[in-house]
Amino acid sequence: MLRSLREVIEWTSGAVGSFNVVDPLMALAVVSAAVQEGRPAIVGVATRHWEKMDAPVMVPSIRAIVERSSAAVALHLDHAKPSQLTIVREALDLGFTSIMIDGSTEPFEDNCAITEEVLKLAGRYGAGVEAELGAIAGEEGVAGLVDSHADESLYTDPGMAEAFVSRCEVDALAVSVGTAHGLYKAEPKLQLDLISELADRVSVPLVLHGATGVPDSAIVESVERGVRKINYFSGLLVEAMDEVRSPLPSNDTDYLGFRRRLYERWKEDAAEKIRLYAGIREAGE
Ligand SMILES: [Zn+2]
Repeated sequence: MLRSLREVIEWTSGAVGSFNVVDPLMALAVVSAAVQEGRPAIVGVATRHWEKMDAPVMVPSIRAIVERSSAAVALHLDHAKPSQLTIVREALDLGFTSIMIDGSTEPFEDNCAITEEVLKLAGRYGAGVEAELGAIAGEEGVAGLVDSHADESLYTDPGMAEAFVSRCEVDALAVSVGTAHGLYKAEPKLQLDLISELADRVSVPLVLHGATGVPDSAIVESVERGVRKINYFSGLLVEAMDEVRSPLPSNDTDYLGFRRRLYERWKEDAAEKIRLYAGIREAGE
């Protein structure tokens, strides 16, 4: 079932997992994981991949996978920059139910203004909007190596966050609390007290980006303190490349078997993250 950002957040105890995908097979794995777990999820497409994956051709398949499933799933455009409103319009026309406008590199007033513009645009389609305040280090969608935590000066300021959401009625707010996009060189240190303070002062659901490599205990703690949506992507790429590197006999031509194994890896990984983000600790932890 295709659902709105607001619905999938409200229907999830803990935080909803948001998984960026680059093709329909990845989307199928994520949606199957949500069905298996009986919980909502978000299938995202990053603007960085929009042209490379030929989104206008691929998205109808991805949308069909979502619509035919029994799980509540939102279709999310991730990290649209202020210069990418053409992609925002394309995504809305293709049926996306959630748009992230990332004006975090702009001054506060400009970030508010572009977010308000996207709120109006998305509102015409009944789609939800996620904004970002404070900068999250690393580049979304490339799984590069990043430092363990962002520059403290980039962390989200609680007072500014409160002022931001009082002006722009967004459905979710991405915050900078020590995570980064990509693969960490050293274990990241989440600013848990900052998450608590933000959750106290900001009335909209908080979003954590860059969850790959964050210790499970820190994830669960951040959910307990008020994070309601968690973005996960790099880990799916690591799973894929581990499968690519698995030794095979030189005469193996079973490409469909390879795709099946990719699907199973992604599904298992997404299911594990859906359970973790719901605040469920696995046995033995
Ligand atoms: Zn992100």
